[in-house]
Amino acid sequence: LMNVYQPLNILGWAYREIKQATVDLERLFQMLRLRPEVADIPDAPALEVSGAEVRYEDVSFSHEGRERSVADLSLTIEPGSFVGFCGPSGAGKSTLLRLLYRFFDPDSGRILIDGQDISRVSQVSLRDALGLVPQEVVLFNDTLWENVLYGRPGATEADVMDAIERARLKSFVDGLPAGMQTRVGERGLRLSGGEKQRVGVARAILKNPPILILDEATSALDSHTEAEVQAALAEAARGRTTIAVAHRLSTIAGADQIHVLEEGALVESGRHEELLAAGGLYASMWRRQADQSDTAPARVRALKV
Ligand code: ADP
Ligand code: MG
Repeated sequence: LMNVYQPLNILGWAYREIKQATVDLERLFQMLRLRPEVADIPDAPALEVSGAEVRYEDVSFSHEGRERSVADLSLTIEPGSFVGFCGPSGAGKSTLLRLLYRFFDPDSGRILIDGQDISRVSQVSLRDALGLVPQEVVLFNDTLWENVLYGRPGATEADVMDAIERARLKSFVDGLPAGMQTRVGERGLRLSGGEKQRVGVARAILKNPPILILDEATSALDSHTEAEVQAALAEAARGRTTIAVAHRLSTIAGADQIHVLEEGALVESGRHEELLAAGGLYASMWRRQADQSDTAPARVRALKV
């Protein structure tokens, strides 16, 4: 019995952790490696990334006893492109990302990176290829320096400072009496939502992964902060395949390709103008958000998809 229940317990606990957003996806991934289902095959080779094309082939997945969270999903994300996902709450966007991270394997279908089935390569190599800026960036009770270095332990000082600059954190750091040696986190300096997000971006830039995953922050940022975060994200996305889940559609309007999900299925794909012209779900979501665009925090939060 122990063996049967343990994975469920871990999942249930992990899910609660996600809901409370106390843990970032990457740490969660490490914890979920305890799950026997997601194990490396014997002598699993390392993933070899060339252009970083991501392909979902007829992927379906249901959480235990639930309707399908992802249903027959097929799509290809071109190497180096910027792709946005949107859709109502519960549409399967997070599940789709977690499948790419291999929190769990699809019930059917496969996910390929540069032609390699991600369930057939080592999880360590998969994780190395993926960078994530989570919705809720977690800061450790340590210096800002250590918090950024977490993106790539062993990075040089020049690399860390470059990441700080590109993440639009330089002037913030320059304004701190102890600079990068300032202690942050619960017991140190409390960073604002926008600053935390940019620390997450700096970590991702430092890690320099071929594939970047952006799960947009849900908390409303003021417009100046939002512009700074946007600029930092755009910088981080440059030169890599980027997959962005958007709560506010304005953040993916410029994407090379936008995919709209509803009840686990892909219902529309195209560029912003094409989707507006098509007059479907995307167009109606866009109109609704435009109507409420004055980013009053409560309203923006209500729009969270
Ligand atoms: P989105 O990110 O688009 O809001 P999700 O991928 O989180 O959607 O959820 C898709 C569906 O899967 C929803 O019906 C949701 O309730 C369900 N779901 C997500 N995570 C779990 C879980 N850990 N256990 C059970 N059901 C889940
Ligand atoms: Mg989600």
